[in-house]
Amino acid sequence: INYATDESIILAAPAPLKARLSSNENPFGPSAKAKKAIMEALETSYQYPSVYIRELTNKIAEYEGVKPENILMGAGSSPLLLAAAMYFSEKNGSNIVSGDPTYASLPRGAAEFNTAWTKVPLTADYKLDLDAMEKKVDSSTSLMYICNPNNPTGTVVDTAKLKAFCERVSKKVPVFVDEAYIDYLPDPKAASVMDAINKGQNVIVARTFSKLYGFAGLRVGYIVAQPELVKTLSKYTAGGFSISATSVKAALAAYNDQEFLKDALKKTLASKNFLYDVLKKEGYEFIPSSSNFVMFPLKMEGEKFTAELMKRGVGVRNWKFNNKEWCRISIGRMDEMQAFADAFKQVS
Ligand code: PLP
Repeated sequence: INYATDESIILAAPAPLKARLSSNENPFGPSAKAKKAIMEALETSYQYPSVYIRELTNKIAEYEGVKPENILMGAGSSPLLLAAAMYFSEKNGSNIVSGDPTYASLPRGAAEFNTAWTKVPLTADYKLDLDAMEKKVDSSTSLMYICNPNNPTGTVVDTAKLKAFCERVSKKVPVFVDEAYIDYLPDPKAASVMDAINKGQNVIVARTFSKLYGFAGLRVGYIVAQPELVKTLSKYTAGGFSISATSVKAALAAYNDQEFLKDALKKTLASKNFLYDVLKKEGYEFIPSSSNFVMFPLKMEGEKFTAELMKRGVGVRNWKFNNKEWCRISIGRMDEMQAFADAFKQVS
């Protein structure tokens, strides 16, 4: 795995990028309603955000059918992943189980606090190997980390299988299910494991406004878990002082705006289909993606490929796994996908 952060790639850009396809952002957002709310929020931005954070918590709780005590808000989901990494690292000699490759923020964060990281390879079709992951749980395991859809492969696991997994495994260790990309699935509610919360399971669901809502720069995210754990994890965050009121008001305006979400999804799919055609035409395979990024195997060294694209103003990321070099490309606007296509033809 190449641990270069998305940010380090952007910072290495020699000039403004023509196509920023390295960070799984949604360039079709934020919505017009969110932008209007931001402008209006400026007037009262001398006020601390606690009241609005509570309002957003209540709104999310109502839609998800959980209690406000089940929810912890953060400035994006990253601070909450870090809170979990810190808390679940407190037991000496503990380990966190995850897929490999997967989104590394939480397990890598925990590894920095001296927790072992048990990496379980994906299945032959690049999905999380839930059976193999379950077998890795032992008395030293402090957390199971599941990223569904998985970043960087864009694959999803079968919902019924994941729900049964959560029910069984959460009796032994907490199961953290990172649903950052769940909004890209045709029926997010059906694919989510959120119903584990009301069943009292020791499951933590992480969500973010950074992806389909287009809020990556605004920073709003949350986790949903059992109230005692929410209270414990909140000690590792700044709680009501964590998110800017402006961002929270934007999130209140954008939340569950089906018209915007459907439109962003439609545009994402159009760009993704364009990308699939480019890859096919150039004779490349790819992992069919359920998200806003696509992983495909390269025919050259990954770092060289990324650097060559960067020279042409196109930012993407490279990975190394299964003894292959891979590119992960985020789905952008059509002009960005065209810029990628032009650069790709020159480099591949
Ligand atoms: N979880 C996954 C799977 C991600 O891919 C990302 C960002 O790319 C995050 C969490 C963190 O995003 P944010 O802190 O913007 O919510």
